[in-house]
Amino acid sequence: MTSSPDHMLRTVSHVEGGPLRVAVLAPPWITVPPPGYGGIEAVVALLCEGLVAKGHDVTLFAAPGSRSVAEVCSPLEDTHADQIGSSLYESDHVAASYDAIDRAGVEGRPFDVLHDHSGYTAVAMADRVSAPVVHTVHGPFNKETKPFYQRHGHKVRLVAISRYQLEHAPAGVRVGDVVPNPILAQDWPFETDKDDYLLWMGRMDPAKGAQRAIAAALAAGTRLVLAGPVQPGQEEYFRNEIEPHVDGRKVMFVGEVGGVHRKQLFARAKAFLMPIRWPEPFGMVMVEALACGTPVIAFPEGAASEIVIDGENGFHVADEAAMAEATRRLDAIDPARCRESVASRYDPAVVADGYEAVYSRAIRAAARRIPRLAINRQSLTRADDRSGRVPHRVARASPLQPTR
Ligand code: UDP
Repeated sequence: MTSSPDHMLRTVSHVEGGPLRVAVLAPPWITVPPPGYGGIEAVVALLCEGLVAKGHDVTLFAAPGSRSVAEVCSPLEDTHADQIGSSLYESDHVAASYDAIDRAGVEGRPFDVLHDHSGYTAVAMADRVSAPVVHTVHGPFNKETKPFYQRHGHKVRLVAISRYQLEHAPAGVRVGDVVPNPILAQDWPFETDKDDYLLWMGRMDPAKGAQRAIAAALAAGTRLVLAGPVQPGQEEYFRNEIEPHVDGRKVMFVGEVGGVHRKQLFARAKAFLMPIRWPEPFGMVMVEALACGTPVIAFPEGAASEIVIDGENGFHVADEAAMAEATRRLDAIDPARCRESVASRYDPAVVADGYEAVYSRAIRAAARRIPRLAINRQSLTRADDRSGRVPHRVARASPLQPTR
Protein backbone atom coordinates (compact mmCIF):
# COMPACT_ATOMS: atom_id res chain seq x y z
CA MET A 1 0.00 0.00 0.00
CA THR A 2 1.56 3.31 -1.05
CA SER A 3 0.63 6.97 -1.29
CA SER A 4 0.22 8.21 -4.82
CA PRO A 5 2.76 10.71 -6.19
CA ASP A 6 -0.12 13.15 -6.67
CA HIS A 7 -1.05 12.91 -3.01
CA MET A 8 2.55 13.32 -1.91
CA LEU A 9 2.95 16.45 -4.05
CA ARG A 10 -0.28 17.87 -2.63
CA THR A 11 0.97 17.04 0.85
CA VAL A 12 4.32 18.73 0.32
CA SER A 13 2.50 21.90 -0.70
CA HIS A 14 0.49 21.62 2.54
CA VAL A 15 3.72 21.39 4.45
CA GLU A 16 4.38 24.99 3.49
CA GLY A 17 2.07 25.97 6.34
CA GLY A 18 -1.34 24.50 5.61
CA PRO A 19 -3.31 22.07 7.79
CA LEU A 20 -2.27 18.45 7.75
CA ARG A 21 -4.35 15.33 8.12
CA VAL A 22 -2.67 13.51 10.99
CA ALA A 23 -3.35 10.03 12.34
CA VAL A 24 -2.17 9.64 15.96
CA LEU A 25 -1.80 6.04 17.13
CA ALA A 26 -1.97 5.55 20.91
CA PRO A 27 -1.43 2.21 22.71
CA PRO A 28 -4.50 -0.04 23.12
CA TRP A 29 -4.19 -0.64 26.87
CA ILE A 30 -5.43 2.53 28.59
CA THR A 31 -7.86 5.25 27.53
CA VAL A 32 -6.83 8.73 26.40
CA PRO A 33 -6.76 10.66 28.69
CA PRO A 34 -5.80 8.06 31.33
CA PRO A 35 -7.98 7.69 34.44
CA GLY A 36 -4.87 7.04 36.56
CA TYR A 37 -1.49 5.61 35.54
CA GLY A 38 -0.68 6.37 31.89
CA GLY A 39 2.21 8.62 30.93
CA ILE A 40 1.97 8.00 27.16
CA GLU A 41 -1.79 8.48 27.16
CA ALA A 42 -1.46 11.81 28.99
CA VAL A 43 1.08 12.95 26.39
CA VAL A 44 -1.15 11.87 23.50
CA ALA A 45 -4.14 13.71 25.00
CA LEU A 46 -2.25 17.02 25.20
CA LEU A 47 -0.60 16.54 21.82
CA CYS A 48 -3.97 16.02 20.09
CA GLU A 49 -5.28 19.20 21.73
CA GLY A 50 -2.19 21.12 20.63
CA LEU A 51 -2.41 19.90 17.03
CA VAL A 52 -6.15 20.58 16.72
CA ALA A 53 -5.59 24.06 18.21
CA LYS A 54 -3.10 24.67 15.41
CA GLY A 55 -5.78 23.80 12.83
CA HIS A 56 -4.74 20.28 11.89
CA ASP A 57 -7.28 17.55 11.11
CA VAL A 58 -6.40 14.85 13.66
CA THR A 59 -7.77 11.33 14.06
CA LEU A 60 -6.79 9.50 17.23
CA PHE A 61 -6.63 5.69 17.16
CA ALA A 62 -6.85 4.67 20.81
CA ALA A 63 -8.38 2.34 23.39
CA PRO A 64 -12.18 2.31 23.59
CA GLY A 65 -13.58 4.93 25.96
CA SER A 66 -10.99 7.50 24.85
CA ARG A 67 -12.07 11.14 24.53
CA SER A 68 -10.37 13.87 22.58
CA VAL A 69 -10.90 17.05 20.60
CA ALA A 70 -9.55 14.93 17.72
CA GLU A 71 -11.82 12.43 16.00
CA VAL A 72 -11.51 9.18 17.98
CA CYS A 73 -11.39 5.76 16.38
CA SER A 74 -11.15 2.65 18.60
CA PRO A 75 -10.52 -0.56 16.68
CA LEU A 76 -10.75 -2.90 19.70
CA GLU A 77 -13.82 -3.64 21.83
CA ASP A 78 -12.09 -3.45 25.24
CA THR A 79 -9.11 -1.92 27.00
CA HIS A 80 -6.56 -4.45 28.23
CA ALA A 81 -4.70 -2.66 31.04
CA ASP A 82 -4.02 -5.99 32.76
CA GLN A 83 -2.35 -7.41 29.64
CA ILE A 84 0.00 -4.58 28.69
CA GLY A 85 2.37 -5.80 25.98
CA SER A 86 0.25 -8.75 24.81
CA SER A 87 1.03 -9.21 21.10
CA LEU A 88 -2.54 -10.45 20.53
CA TYR A 89 -4.06 -7.06 21.34
CA GLU A 90 -1.21 -4.87 20.17
CA SER A 91 -1.04 -6.43 16.69
CA ASP A 92 -4.84 -6.38 16.38
CA HIS A 93 -4.98 -2.69 17.35
CA VAL A 94 -2.16 -1.69 15.01
CA ALA A 95 -3.26 -3.77 12.01
CA ALA A 96 -6.86 -2.54 12.29
CA SER A 97 -5.64 1.07 12.56
CA TYR A 98 -3.34 0.62 9.56
CA ASP A 99 -6.28 -0.85 7.59
CA ALA A 100 -8.42 2.18 8.46
CA ILE A 101 -5.60 4.54 7.41
CA ASP A 102 -5.13 2.72 4.10
CA ARG A 103 -8.89 2.67 3.52
CA ALA A 104 -9.05 6.44 4.06
CA GLY A 105 -6.47 6.79 1.27
CA VAL A 106 -8.45 4.61 -1.09
CA GLU A 107 -11.59 6.59 -0.30
CA GLY A 108 -9.89 9.87 -1.20
CA ARG A 109 -9.17 11.18 2.34
CA PRO A 110 -5.54 10.10 2.76
CA PHE A 111 -3.58 10.89 5.89
CA ASP A 112 -0.50 13.04 5.38
CA VAL A 113 1.37 11.54 8.31
CA LEU A 114 0.93 8.87 10.98
CA HIS A 115 2.33 9.59 14.44
CA ASP A 116 2.86 6.40 16.41
CA HIS A 117 3.06 6.17 20.21
CA SER A 118 1.91 2.57 20.42
CA GLY A 119 5.16 0.64 20.35
CA TYR A 120 6.95 -2.05 18.46
CA THR A 121 4.37 -3.62 16.13
CA ALA A 122 3.66 -0.25 14.52
CA VAL A 123 7.37 0.36 13.88
CA ALA A 124 8.10 -3.12 12.54
CA MET A 125 5.21 -2.84 10.07
CA ALA A 126 5.59 0.87 9.25
CA ASP A 127 6.74 0.26 5.68
CA ARG A 128 3.42 -1.40 4.95
CA VAL A 129 1.10 1.53 5.66
CA SER A 130 0.18 4.30 3.25
CA ALA A 131 1.48 7.31 5.19
CA PRO A 132 4.95 8.27 6.39
CA VAL A 133 5.33 7.22 10.03
CA VAL A 134 6.79 9.31 12.85
CA HIS A 135 7.50 7.24 15.98
CA THR A 136 8.09 8.73 19.40
CA VAL A 137 10.47 6.52 21.38
CA HIS A 138 8.71 6.38 24.75
CA GLY A 139 10.87 3.58 26.16
CA PRO A 140 14.59 3.36 26.80
CA PHE A 141 17.24 2.16 24.37
CA ASN A 142 18.48 -0.93 26.20
CA LYS A 143 19.88 -4.33 25.31
CA GLU A 144 16.43 -5.66 24.42
CA THR A 145 15.25 -2.72 22.29
CA LYS A 146 18.54 -1.76 20.58
CA PRO A 147 18.58 -4.67 18.08
CA PHE A 148 14.92 -3.99 17.31
CA TYR A 149 15.57 -0.35 16.42
CA GLN A 150 18.68 -1.36 14.48
CA ARG A 151 16.55 -3.71 12.35
CA HIS A 152 13.39 -1.61 11.97
CA GLY A 153 14.19 1.99 12.93
CA HIS A 154 14.78 3.05 9.31
CA LYS A 155 11.09 2.42 8.54
CA VAL A 156 10.02 5.45 10.59
CA ARG A 157 11.22 8.90 11.56
CA LEU A 158 12.34 8.47 15.16
CA VAL A 159 11.79 11.19 17.75
CA ALA A 160 13.49 11.17 21.16
CA ILE A 161 11.78 12.71 24.20
CA SER A 162 15.00 13.88 25.83
CA ARG A 163 18.45 14.89 24.72
CA TYR A 164 19.87 12.02 26.79
CA GLN A 165 17.80 9.54 24.81
CA LEU A 166 18.89 11.07 21.50
CA GLU A 167 22.54 10.89 22.49
CA HIS A 168 22.20 7.24 23.53
CA ALA A 169 20.61 5.95 20.34
CA PRO A 170 22.19 2.67 19.25
CA ALA A 171 24.83 2.63 16.52
CA GLY A 172 23.26 2.85 13.08
CA VAL A 173 19.93 4.19 14.41
CA ARG A 174 19.17 7.72 13.31
CA VAL A 175 17.03 9.73 15.68
CA GLY A 176 16.24 12.96 13.87
CA ASP A 177 14.68 15.12 16.54
CA VAL A 178 14.05 15.73 20.23
CA VAL A 179 10.54 16.79 21.24
CA PRO A 180 9.90 16.63 25.00
CA ASN A 181 6.65 15.49 26.53
CA PRO A 182 4.08 18.24 27.17
CA ILE A 183 2.51 19.46 30.39
CA LEU A 184 -0.03 22.25 30.82
CA ALA A 185 1.15 23.83 34.08
CA GLN A 186 -2.19 25.56 34.69
CA ASP A 187 -3.89 22.13 34.90
CA TRP A 188 -1.87 21.48 38.08
CA PRO A 189 -2.44 23.14 41.48
CA PHE A 190 0.44 25.39 42.51
CA GLU A 191 1.10 25.04 46.25
CA THR A 192 3.71 26.72 48.44
CA ASP A 193 2.27 25.47 51.73
CA LYS A 194 3.66 21.94 51.96
CA ASP A 195 2.79 19.04 54.27
CA ASP A 196 5.44 17.00 56.03
CA TYR A 197 5.73 14.04 53.66
CA LEU A 198 7.84 12.91 50.74
CA LEU A 199 6.20 11.43 47.64
CA TRP A 200 7.15 8.64 45.28
CA MET A 201 4.77 7.77 42.43
CA GLY A 202 5.13 5.32 39.55
CA ARG A 203 5.10 1.76 38.32
CA MET A 204 6.20 -0.83 40.90
CA ASP A 205 9.29 -1.64 38.88
CA PRO A 206 12.67 -1.96 40.66
CA ALA A 207 14.19 0.47 38.13
CA LYS A 208 11.80 3.20 39.30
CA GLY A 209 13.08 2.69 42.83
CA ALA A 210 10.20 2.61 45.33
CA GLN A 211 12.46 0.46 47.53
CA ARG A 212 15.20 3.13 47.41
CA ALA A 213 12.66 5.86 48.18
CA ILE A 214 11.73 3.92 51.33
CA ALA A 215 15.39 3.68 52.40
CA ALA A 216 15.92 7.41 51.79
CA ALA A 217 12.75 8.46 53.64
CA LEU A 218 13.53 6.21 56.62
CA ALA A 219 17.04 7.69 56.77
CA ALA A 220 15.58 11.21 56.60
CA GLY A 221 13.01 10.37 59.28
CA THR A 222 10.23 11.82 57.09
CA ARG A 223 6.94 10.15 56.21
CA LEU A 224 6.79 8.67 52.70
CA VAL A 225 3.69 8.25 50.54
CA LEU A 226 3.98 5.68 47.76
CA ALA A 227 1.43 5.66 44.91
CA GLY A 228 1.14 3.56 41.79
CA PRO A 229 -0.20 0.41 40.21
CA VAL A 230 1.26 -3.06 40.75
CA GLN A 231 1.30 -4.22 37.15
CA PRO A 232 1.45 -7.84 35.96
CA GLY A 233 4.93 -9.22 36.71
CA GLN A 234 5.55 -6.72 39.55
CA GLU A 235 3.69 -8.63 42.28
CA GLU A 236 6.71 -10.48 43.70
CA TYR A 237 8.87 -7.34 43.89
CA PHE A 238 6.04 -5.49 45.59
CA ARG A 239 5.38 -8.35 48.05
CA ASN A 240 9.06 -8.79 48.98
CA GLU A 241 10.56 -5.30 48.86
CA ILE A 242 7.74 -2.82 49.41
CA GLU A 243 4.87 -4.33 51.39
CA PRO A 244 6.98 -5.29 54.44
CA HIS A 245 7.85 -1.61 54.98
CA VAL A 246 4.30 -0.28 54.62
CA ASP A 247 3.15 0.48 58.17
CA GLY A 248 0.60 3.23 57.44
CA ARG A 249 2.64 5.75 59.48
CA LYS A 250 6.24 6.12 58.26
CA VAL A 251 5.51 4.49 54.92
CA MET A 252 2.05 4.67 53.35
CA PHE A 253 0.95 2.92 50.18
CA VAL A 254 -2.15 4.43 48.58
CA GLY A 255 -2.28 2.30 45.41
CA GLU A 256 -2.97 3.73 41.99
CA VAL A 257 -4.26 7.30 42.17
CA GLY A 258 -5.95 9.63 39.69
CA GLY A 259 -7.89 12.88 39.43
CA VAL A 260 -7.81 15.45 42.23
CA HIS A 261 -6.26 13.01 44.72
CA ARG A 262 -3.19 12.55 42.51
CA LYS A 263 -2.79 16.30 41.97
CA GLN A 264 -3.13 17.05 45.68
CA LEU A 265 -0.55 14.38 46.54
CA PHE A 266 1.93 16.09 44.20
CA ALA A 267 1.07 19.61 45.37
CA ARG A 268 1.19 19.02 49.15
CA ALA A 269 4.42 16.95 49.18
CA LYS A 270 7.53 18.69 50.47
CA ALA A 271 9.55 16.89 47.78
CA PHE A 272 9.16 14.26 45.10
CA LEU A 273 11.70 11.41 45.19
CA MET A 274 13.04 9.96 41.93
CA PRO A 275 15.64 7.35 42.91
CA ILE A 276 15.79 5.73 39.46
CA ARG A 277 18.37 3.28 38.26
CA TRP A 278 17.66 3.17 34.54
CA PRO A 279 18.05 5.48 31.54
CA GLU A 280 14.75 7.30 32.16
CA PRO A 281 13.55 8.47 28.72
CA PHE A 282 11.53 11.35 30.23
CA GLY A 283 9.63 10.77 33.49
CA MET A 284 6.27 12.56 33.55
CA VAL A 285 6.06 12.34 37.33
CA MET A 286 8.96 14.79 37.68
CA VAL A 287 7.35 17.49 35.54
CA GLU A 288 3.99 16.97 37.25
CA ALA A 289 5.55 17.47 40.68
CA LEU A 290 7.44 20.54 39.48
CA ALA A 291 4.29 22.05 37.92
CA CYS A 292 2.78 21.95 41.43
CA GLY A 293 5.80 23.77 42.87
CA THR A 294 7.20 20.60 44.44
CA PRO A 295 10.99 20.13 44.22
CA VAL A 296 12.35 16.86 42.81
CA ILE A 297 15.29 15.02 44.36
CA ALA A 298 16.58 12.66 41.70
CA PHE A 299 19.37 10.30 40.81
CA PRO A 300 20.56 12.09 37.65
CA GLU A 301 19.99 9.16 35.32
CA GLY A 302 18.61 9.63 31.82
CA ALA A 303 16.29 12.61 31.42
CA ALA A 304 16.28 13.28 35.18
CA SER A 305 19.61 15.04 34.59
CA GLU A 306 17.83 17.50 32.22
CA ILE A 307 14.45 17.96 33.90
CA VAL A 308 15.93 18.50 37.36
CA ILE A 309 18.22 21.52 37.45
CA ASP A 310 20.47 20.97 40.46
CA GLY A 311 19.95 23.65 43.11
CA GLU A 312 17.13 25.37 41.17
CA ASN A 313 14.11 23.08 41.03
CA GLY A 314 15.53 20.23 43.09
CA PHE A 315 18.71 18.28 43.61
CA HIS A 316 20.80 15.67 41.86
CA VAL A 317 21.99 13.08 44.39
CA ALA A 318 24.13 9.98 44.06
CA ASP A 319 22.38 7.55 46.41
CA GLU A 320 19.79 7.05 49.14
CA ALA A 321 21.96 8.62 51.87
CA ALA A 322 22.49 11.75 49.78
CA MET A 323 18.77 11.81 49.01
CA ALA A 324 17.98 11.79 52.73
CA GLU A 325 20.50 14.59 53.31
CA ALA A 326 19.02 16.68 50.46
CA THR A 327 15.59 16.66 52.15
CA ARG A 328 17.16 18.99 54.76
CA ARG A 329 18.05 21.58 52.10
CA LEU A 330 14.60 22.01 50.56
CA ASP A 331 14.21 25.57 51.88
CA ALA A 332 16.76 26.60 49.25
CA ILE A 333 14.32 25.71 46.46
CA ASP A 334 11.66 28.24 45.38
CA PRO A 335 8.35 26.53 44.42
CA ALA A 336 7.68 29.26 41.84
CA ARG A 337 10.97 28.45 40.11
CA CYS A 338 9.95 24.76 40.06
CA ARG A 339 6.73 25.55 38.22
CA GLU A 340 8.37 28.02 35.89
CA SER A 341 11.05 25.45 34.96
CA VAL A 342 8.44 23.20 33.36
CA ALA A 343 5.96 25.82 32.12
CA SER A 344 8.65 27.38 29.93
CA ARG A 345 10.14 24.18 28.55
CA TYR A 346 7.24 21.74 28.15
CA ASP A 347 4.20 23.81 27.24
CA PRO A 348 1.87 21.88 24.86
CA ALA A 349 2.09 24.67 22.26
CA VAL A 350 5.89 24.31 22.19
CA VAL A 351 5.53 20.54 21.80
CA ALA A 352 2.90 20.85 19.03
CA ASP A 353 5.22 23.26 17.16
CA GLY A 354 8.02 20.72 17.53
CA TYR A 355 5.97 17.88 16.11
CA GLU A 356 4.60 20.02 13.30
CA ALA A 357 8.19 20.56 12.16
CA VAL A 358 8.92 16.84 12.48
CA TYR A 359 5.86 15.96 10.38
CA SER A 360 7.03 18.36 7.66
CA ARG A 361 10.43 16.69 7.59
CA ALA A 362 8.90 13.20 7.47
CA ILE A 363 6.55 14.17 4.63
CA ARG A 364 9.34 15.82 2.63
CA ALA A 365 11.57 12.78 3.08
CA ALA A 366 8.78 10.51 1.85
CA ALA A 367 8.12 12.79 -1.10
CA ARG A 368 11.79 12.70 -2.10
CA ARG A 369 11.31 8.99 -2.66
CA ILE A 370 8.59 9.58 -5.24
CA PRO A 371 10.82 10.26 -8.28
CA ARG A 372 12.73 7.12 -7.37
CA LEU A 373 9.44 5.25 -7.13
CA ALA A 374 8.46 6.49 -10.57
CA ILE A 375 11.78 5.25 -11.98
CA ASN A 376 11.29 1.92 -10.25
CA ARG A 377 7.83 1.66 -11.74
CA GLN A 378 9.20 2.30 -15.23
CA SER A 379 11.81 -0.40 -14.85
CA LEU A 380 9.16 -2.65 -13.34
CA THR A 381 6.97 -2.13 -16.41
CA ARG A 382 9.90 -2.79 -18.77
CA ALA A 383 10.86 -5.92 -16.87
CA ASP A 384 7.24 -7.06 -16.99
CA ASP A 385 7.14 -6.42 -20.74
CA ARG A 386 10.17 -8.60 -21.34
CA SER A 387 9.77 -11.53 -19.02
CA GLY A 388 6.40 -11.19 -17.33
CA ARG A 389 8.19 -11.46 -13.98
CA VAL A 390 8.43 -8.79 -11.30
CA PRO A 391 12.01 -8.16 -10.16
CA HIS A 392 12.15 -8.86 -6.41
CA ARG A 393 14.07 -5.67 -5.63
CA VAL A 394 11.44 -3.46 -7.24
CA ALA A 395 8.51 -5.35 -5.77
CA ARG A 396 9.81 -4.70 -2.26
CA ALA A 397 10.67 -1.00 -2.68
CA SER A 398 8.78 1.24 -0.28
CA PRO A 399 8.24 4.81 -1.47
CA LEU A 400 7.56 5.93 2.06
CA GLN A 401 10.77 4.85 3.69
CA PRO A 402 12.25 8.17 4.79
CA THR A 403 15.38 9.23 2.96
CA ARG A 404 18.06 10.33 5.40
N1 UDP B 1 0.37 7.89 37.48
C1 UDP B 1 -0.93 8.04 37.92
N2 UDP B 1 -1.33 7.32 39.01
C2 UDP B 1 -0.50 6.49 39.67
C3 UDP B 1 0.83 6.35 39.21
C4 UDP B 1 1.23 7.07 38.10
O1 UDP B 1 -1.72 8.80 37.36
O2 UDP B 1 -0.94 5.88 40.63
C5 UDP B 1 0.78 8.67 36.30
C6 UDP B 1 1.84 9.71 36.62
O3 UDP B 1 1.24 10.85 37.20
C7 UDP B 1 2.45 9.92 35.23
C8 UDP B 1 2.37 8.53 34.60
O4 UDP B 1 1.38 7.81 35.34
O5 UDP B 1 1.65 10.81 34.47
C9 UDP B 1 3.68 7.79 34.64
O6 UDP B 1 4.52 8.34 33.66
P1 UDP B 1 6.11 8.35 33.81
O7 UDP B 1 6.65 8.95 32.56
O8 UDP B 1 6.51 8.98 35.07
O9 UDP B 1 6.50 6.82 33.94
P2 UDP B 1 6.46 5.58 32.90
O10 UDP B 1 5.72 6.03 31.67
O11 UDP B 1 7.89 5.21 32.66
O12 UDP B 1 5.75 4.52 33.66
